[in-house]
Amino acid sequence: MSELHKFLFDGLPVRGMVVRLTDAWTQILQRRAANSDTGAYPCPVRDLLGEMTAAAILMQSNIKFNGALVLQIFGDGPVKLAVVEVQPDLSVRATATVAGAVADDASLSALVNVSNQGRCAITLDPQDRFAGQQPYQGVVPLFGDQREPLEKFSEVLEHYMLQSEQLDTTLVLAANGEVAAGLLIQRLPSGGVNNLSAGRSANEDEIGRNEDYKRIALLASTLKKEELLTLDVDTILHRLFWEEKLLRFEPQTGATAPRFACRCSRERVSHMIRSLGVEEVESILSEREDVEVGCDFCGQQYRFDAVDAAQIFKPDAGAVPGSSLIH
Ligand SMILES: [Zn+2]
Repeated sequence: MSELHKFLFDGLPVRGMVVRLTDAWTQILQRRAANSDTGAYPCPVRDLLGEMTAAAILMQSNIKFNGALVLQIFGDGPVKLAVVEVQPDLSVRATATVAGAVADDASLSALVNVSNQGRCAITLDPQDRFAGQQPYQGVVPLFGDQREPLEKFSEVLEHYMLQSEQLDTTLVLAANGEVAAGLLIQRLPSGGVNNLSAGRSANEDEIGRNEDYKRIALLASTLKKEELLTLDVDTILHRLFWEEKLLRFEPQTGATAPRFACRCSRERVSHMIRSLGVEEVESILSEREDVEVGCDFCGQQYRFDAVDAAQIFKPDAGAVPGSSLIH
């Protein structure tokens, strides 16, 4: 079963999380494999999307925010787009668009950053957006400070957290065909009232806090992908931090665990068809019986025939076409 564990280092300004996705991840892969248009992901794409999925859940769990977190890579290689969307209840869906051949041992830059033009975007889309409110979006390149391509997705996000959120973060991510997992270690944001007013002693205090974070981050970075994929969470935490005092929260498993869920619906798809315009839809229907739309995230097929399409473009179309035909 999928699970999320949160913990604090007692008395230190450092927090951590481990996510381990099993059923949530394999459902995403099975649905993709069952899609006859695309087939299963090539292994390097699968592993990247798995790392993104684990990371997106860690990031969503790490913020107090009521809305969807969307993690995207806009690639300039064979992977054009990879998307993960996580809701506040940790339901997650993910998909990637692959065009062209992918080598079995393709690196991150061979997948999404061939010409150093790839981008990673993190979007926070509030659940109750007021009129005209735009979602918050941060965008980072897939290269480092010297414009060198980054070969670990975790490094891309570490850069993002430092640049956009001013948060020191250490991430270890890994995925295969059965598991997608991640470890996050983060220095708690300081800068509260105490720090502002305490003058020089606050600086000294800050140095001490840094040392604690650095020691723990170094321990975290020794975790190997293989260990993250195969060991249970208790074993991982004991191996890394047996000399530290951890305060662990009740793990999120079972009903509160991260899980796969798609938010597509016939109504959303009919809105999308309406946005194509009546001419485009009529032209499709002149060549075939139905307008057929498949959901990239879950593989669900939606069919709209000429009668359904006419309903969509009726000026007062309120009802969901197709659902009101049989009474
Ligand atoms: Zn769907």
